[in-house]
Amino acid sequence: MVVINSQYFPPILEFIEFALQISLSDLHHRCDVSIVAPQRKPNLKPPELVASSESLDALTKRLAARGRIAFDTEAASFHRYIDRVYLVQVCSDSDIALVDPLAVQDLSPLGDLLADSNIEVVFHDADYDLRTLNRDYGFVATNVFDTRIAAQLAGEDSVGLGALLDKYFKVTANKKMQRADWSRRPLTEEMVSYAADDTRYLLPLRDRLSKLLKSVGRMEWAEEEFSLLEGIRWTQSAKDEQAFLRIKGAKALPRRALAVLRELHSWREKTASSLDRAPFRVVGNSALIALAKETPSNLETMQDTDGIPASVVKRYGNELVKAIKKGLKVAPNDRPSVTRSKRPLADHAYDRRLAKLKTLRNETALEHKMDSGLLCPNGTLQAIARAAPINSVQLLKVSELRRWQRGVLGDANILSAIRNDD
Ligand SMILES: [Zn+2]
Repeated sequence: MVVINSQYFPPILEFIEFALQISLSDLHHRCDVSIVAPQRKPNLKPPELVASSESLDALTKRLAARGRIAFDTEAASFHRYIDRVYLVQVCSDSDIALVDPLAVQDLSPLGDLLADSNIEVVFHDADYDLRTLNRDYGFVATNVFDTRIAAQLAGEDSVGLGALLDKYFKVTANKKMQRADWSRRPLTEEMVSYAADDTRYLLPLRDRLSKLLKSVGRMEWAEEEFSLLEGIRWTQSAKDEQAFLRIKGAKALPRRALAVLRELHSWREKTASSLDRAPFRVVGNSALIALAKETPSNLETMQDTDGIPASVVKRYGNELVKAIKKGLKVAPNDRPSVTRSKRPLADHAYDRRLAKLKTLRNETALEHKMDSGLLCPNGTLQAIARAAPINSVQLLKVSELRRWQRGVLGDANILSAIRNDD
């Protein structure tokens, strides 16, 4: 990425434009030029790399004194099988630090910051970060501000961090880094600067969005959403026996090939897990499908199968042949099949309640110039239609429904929408 200090920016660009005879907007599209406006860039020290308990202690003491911090984490799911936190970025109005969880054994000082209700912690899209921090370290947070939720409720069209930073601070994120391998050490210079930039603008962004929310009278909505983030905990999802059916192309396979695919997929999960490598880095999905279709019985025929890289044959060929044989031995009746999910029994009264709730929601969203899914997601409407409350007390028991949503939609409107279900 080329970074040009904006103080020199106009003359340099004009010169490039003149020299190349292309327009400025064209130039923006052709090169990855990022304009850094110095008057807007938060005035922070260069990022500090924290790799010992002593420096983490010193850092968290300084951060606690500032009253608010920005938080972010990086994982490596594009590279690794085991999902875990590989980097924690923290940032105050004066400090920015990258904490290395591979080097620091005890991260509890960070957990104390998160749990301290006197310190506001700012995330962009807190849900994932809080879930993984809870899973890996047992951390829980209080006093959270989520810039993604704030942007949504403030009516921003694009709520991705990249889009918001571009809009408010004219910085362009280095997209290439989103798939970087954060489990590698040492981190490259490019990774360090990307990781720092990911949190560098969060506090100023928080201030801009908070102002915006207040000006449209929606700060209370945001506060309700933020307080719900405090309840986020990691929950183990059940092992999915049908995962192999979701591989692209699986549903078109005959049952005999599906039995082979199931074996191949299960072998790949085991192998990826023991290598701690993302499954597609072991054998890609299209290669698994090709193997399930062609069922090569030895390395020579596997080599001749379209779509199987030579490196895969060389490294895993024998194990793949074994898995294929195992799949072919499955008795016809035990072969998996693609079952189409049966339609649930028709419940016309429920359908009518849901339809009326949708109409109410859509009309109200239009009035408030809001995205209807943001005002009230379909899942929440379904929960109301299912519960079929007949008064406010019962409506209050629909846990999916937020206080602010009830305020906007109106209890009376919701109740009358479901009452008139004849
Ligand atoms: Zn990040």
